[in-house]
Amino acid sequence: MVAEIQQQIQQLRQQLQAASYAYYVLDAPIIPDEVYDRLYRQLQELESDYPELITAESPTQRVGEKPATQFFSVKHNIPLYSLENAFNFEEFAKWQERWQRIAPPLTPPWQGGGQDGIAPAQDGIAPPLTPPWQGGGQDEIAPSLSNEKNKAITPPLTKGGLGGVSYVCELKIDGSALALTYENGVLVRGATRGDGIAGEEITQNVKTIRSIPLKLNLDNPPPVVEVRGEAFLSLAVFAEINREREKAGEQLFANPRNAAAGTLRQLDSKVVDQRRLDFFAYTLHLDDGNEQKSQWESLELLRSMGFKVNPNRKICYSLDEVREYYEYWDTERRNLPYMTDGVVVKINSVGLQRQLGFTQRFPRWAIALKYPAAEVPTIVEAITVQVGRTGALTPVAELKPVQLAGTTVSRASLHNSDRLSELNLHIGDTVIVRKAGEIIPEVVRVLPELRPQNAQLFQMPSCCPECTQPVVREKGEAVTRCINTSCPAILRGSLIHFCSRDALDINGVGEKLVQQMVDSNLVHSAADLYDLTVERLMGLERMGNKLAEKLVSAIAKSKNQAYSRVLYGLGIRHVGSVNAQLLTERFTTVEELAAVSAAAIEGVYGIGPEIAQSVYQWFRVPANQSLIARLKTAGLQLQSEVKSQNSGDQNLQFVGKTFVLTGTLPTLKRDEAKDLIQKAGGKVSSSVSAKTDYVVVGEDAGSKLEKAQSLGIELLSEAELLELWAG
Ligand code: NAD
Repeated sequence: MVAEIQQQIQQLRQQLQAASYAYYVLDAPIIPDEVYDRLYRQLQELESDYPELITAESPTQRVGEKPATQFFSVKHNIPLYSLENAFNFEEFAKWQERWQRIAPPLTPPWQGGGQDGIAPAQDGIAPPLTPPWQGGGQDEIAPSLSNEKNKAITPPLTKGGLGGVSYVCELKIDGSALALTYENGVLVRGATRGDGIAGEEITQNVKTIRSIPLKLNLDNPPPVVEVRGEAFLSLAVFAEINREREKAGEQLFANPRNAAAGTLRQLDSKVVDQRRLDFFAYTLHLDDGNEQKSQWESLELLRSMGFKVNPNRKICYSLDEVREYYEYWDTERRNLPYMTDGVVVKINSVGLQRQLGFTQRFPRWAIALKYPAAEVPTIVEAITVQVGRTGALTPVAELKPVQLAGTTVSRASLHNSDRLSELNLHIGDTVIVRKAGEIIPEVVRVLPELRPQNAQLFQMPSCCPECTQPVVREKGEAVTRCINTSCPAILRGSLIHFCSRDALDINGVGEKLVQQMVDSNLVHSAADLYDLTVERLMGLERMGNKLAEKLVSAIAKSKNQAYSRVLYGLGIRHVGSVNAQLLTERFTTVEELAAVSAAAIEGVYGIGPEIAQSVYQWFRVPANQSLIARLKTAGLQLQSEVKSQNSGDQNLQFVGKTFVLTGTLPTLKRDEAKDLIQKAGGKVSSSVSAKTDYVVVGEDAGSKLEKAQSLGIELLSEAELLELWAG
């Protein structure tokens, strides 16, 4: 067991190390961040269950990667830590409980504990705090500056929960951390984060960043000032860089963060200069024993020293306020010209920060609240194959359940064999899933780097998983099909379709009941539904008298459904409800439709050759012919309602003509115009083609008007339409 865990840990470490190297050193990630985070979490969990297996070189024990060798390595005076991540508010609340547990007891401000309620230092590190009323408040702000752009959006001085402790919420800029050293007010060194202990000396490159002052705006600068912050690229510059790289045939940067990190480590500072990096400062270390008292004050001081400080910061006094800030920026971030990947919440009081200190990798007094991913990684545990009503075999990925855009996703369609080969999907693969159109989960890609050894490539079966008959895949088709007409899966699918809302709309006949009826041989075709009686239905498991009666009456009621619905319900390939409507309007009885040639069917406006062939062939199959005969005997509507001849609405100018409406008409609403045309015997189509007779043009008409003009189709104004109608 332990050996197995050890192996698992080893594998995770190898994967994380390889990913980390590609990410931090090569600036070319091989797996998405979400996958990295997940693997990292897995490793962390295993290591916390088996602490004896933790080793010093485990990725959980360090920040980033060792610095690359092109630059000189510089040791950070104060380690440059990463941030702990929280992916939801439960995790955030846990972090809050954690720091509260280890924080020294809070002294109320009125007993001298200062605004953030910090007791005087017990270990002598934290300087005693001056109560706010004596001018030393934790949230003391620097004198306001004329730089309006950098102004904070929220006034800092309000008090609330958390026993007087406040948080500073900042945006988490998706860039690369920099440590800048100023001696006597002059920039002498710029370094990357590296592994947190030592980074690369990139002073020359840092000097190209216009928002980094080369000299501090201070009259009497302390001997040493260290400023930390985020170098980043705006989205516009990022896009431009990638466009140029694409032109030059170079590998594209995966995201602005990697582009910023890659740019900072360019050997030629002229290239860095062209890339227009930007910088937001967020940490200040003063070396004159005169340390500022709060993070908020640091930000204000940084601003007054000439740094660009992100204006979208806020002081929060409770979890609810943090949540509000987070939710606001989760939406609003889309309007920012740079990328953010979450918010950073920091304990405001520097004194309390000092008392809480650091873990191996993180400060205990700050946490990054990450935004949820729109795409998430998960594992394909199995692949099953579903047989639909047309006999199409659809491979479905059975996923390790994962949260995605508010729901738990455990299955995703893989569409067909072509898609499967494209993905080269193996069982056990880690895949990225997303919600297509926000609803249907789909597998976007596979991460072959994370494929377990001996993973099996999935092959489509050669026999139907339902009826075991051989399946076929026609030339040029992506779909593999079962062609056994008595395959129970096809029967189930076609019955569900027949009873569905847009077809016969039979209430109460759903998947479960259909399965029961097919399994117990009660129903072999849609026509059998009409032979069902209460007694026969009562033979089914858990079927009561009342329910059976309800079903029989719902089935009987469906006999009144229109012919077009019946035709649609038959499930003829390519015949959706619109096509069924077109066909039943043209061929008003099923006998007529069954007798005409494919060419005649194709003659119906809107019906293409493929649909025509499909309908024609369907009526040639004896089983289908007997189904129609039985449905007719059962009393279903198999002919169109005869239109009232003396309605007087029909108009010879309109009968058989196709109209297209475009733009806003002066008096008629779109639906009114449509109704008028249809009642007069015309057809309304949504697109202009050579078969269009008239285009009715209103104000702000778009491309349909242009197309009509290019095809020379007659244009009508609303007035002309009404004239035509009035005869
Ligand atoms: P991080 O990006 O999660 O957070 C820490 C960093 O946030 C800081 O170092 C700083 O650069 C930045 N930051 C931005 N705004 C800030 C602010 N206002 N205050 C303080 N810091 C701010 O941590 P990390 O250690 O830089 O990177 C870990 C992350 O990198 C992981 O979550 C993972 O997603 C990603 N990663 C991905 C891969 C991969 O293969 N895809 C490999 C390694 C790491």
